[in-house]
Amino acid sequence: MRSIAQDRSLRTPWDTFEREVLEYLRTLIRFDTTNPPGNERVATDFLAARLGAAGIAAVVLEKEPTRANLVARLEGGGDAPLMLSSHTDVVPVEAARWSRAPFGAEVAEGCVWGRGAIDMKAKCAMDLGLMLALRKAGAALNRDLVLAAVADEEAGSELGARFLVEHHSELVRAGWVLNEAGGFTLYLGGRRYYPIQVAEKGYVTVKMTVSGPPGHGSIPRSDSAIAGLAELVVRINRTPMRLRLTPLMRRTLDLLGIEPQSAPPLFRAMMANTVAPTILRAGYKDNVIPGEASVVLDGRTLPGETPESLLRELREIVGPGPALEVLKCAPPAEGSADTPLFRLIAHQVEMADPGARAIAWMLPGATDSKFYAQLGATCYGFAPVRIGPRMPYGSLYHGNDERIPIDGFLWGLRLYVEVVLSFVGLRFDQVFN
Ligand SMILES: [Zn+2]
Repeated sequence: MRSIAQDRSLRTPWDTFEREVLEYLRTLIRFDTTNPPGNERVATDFLAARLGAAGIAAVVLEKEPTRANLVARLEGGGDAPLMLSSHTDVVPVEAARWSRAPFGAEVAEGCVWGRGAIDMKAKCAMDLGLMLALRKAGAALNRDLVLAAVADEEAGSELGARFLVEHHSELVRAGWVLNEAGGFTLYLGGRRYYPIQVAEKGYVTVKMTVSGPPGHGSIPRSDSAIAGLAELVVRINRTPMRLRLTPLMRRTLDLLGIEPQSAPPLFRAMMANTVAPTILRAGYKDNVIPGEASVVLDGRTLPGETPESLLRELREIVGPGPALEVLKCAPPAEGSADTPLFRLIAHQVEMADPGARAIAWMLPGATDSKFYAQLGATCYGFAPVRIGPRMPYGSLYHGNDERIPIDGFLWGLRLYVEVVLSFVGLRFDQVFN
């Protein structure tokens, strides 16, 4: 039997834990996992080594060489498993536009600088630290705790979460998932909010092609494919798609005091399907009028919508002329905010930042949550970090000079730990001192 004194030694001093998790973050940033090409294995090897040294076996799976996904598990009681999810890839950088080395993980001006600091190596570091501290403490969990650190999120998840969900579902099936895209400070109307992602839009990438008579560039014609396509692109840009508020967004906008008709672009994108032209293609020689011109449309669907319903709405705008071809799609996802885990998150957020309020919201973009939700999980975006009012948080996502304030990161770490420990049935002082 363990004595109380021995139990004490199994707990991790909180200040040591903070230092370690900060170092995990800096180590992860230094691995260049830019996707493409990805090369997530360098990050996964590090995670597997740290977990392995603590006696936690990790499963590493690659659909393609170097595109590693890692799943590890601490076994617990019979309640529905909680999965801590992150992706280890990052988007490319324009290094010349950065003030510091994008993969240097420098500490300066109170921040850790580098690609992935926000999206989303910070949460990956928190997940690793928490698994190690829990393992060391050896306390009994009321449910399995799963760590998933996956590849390829930034390029559609084909080699990452989607691959695991479709081919190794037993590893990543969970009742609950904590993932990215929520838990940061949002300043609105003089108040502080913490959006918790409960829903996310689907995507439908559409290639729209217009045909027309080809000809010699010396004899212009108004019915060319390029002219037709240009008119349709302008029309798409000028025609707003139907506003449709899901019950979740109606409650959230009410709470924030935002009128749907005058909502800023971010919120408008949570209230309608959208299509944005992103790639134009036409022509191959300067004196030939091409017979075909195309545009790729980045389409996004609200919960409850399908690729077919988006195509119908798009067809109403562009008419019967152009050919529409779906290049890829993934469904939207919507969970409930009326759950014990959401209430726990909201309670802990409001304790950690008195006067602030947690709100449920929808991400206009996509995360791996949409795939884990297909296995029945309730997924929340909760990667907490406290941000000051002058920090351009939104532009740090995929932006230049991505960085995370250290005090806000450590604030988020404590909040995250409180939420996870409570949800696996433990008190803070059973794991930390
Ligand atoms: Zn991300």
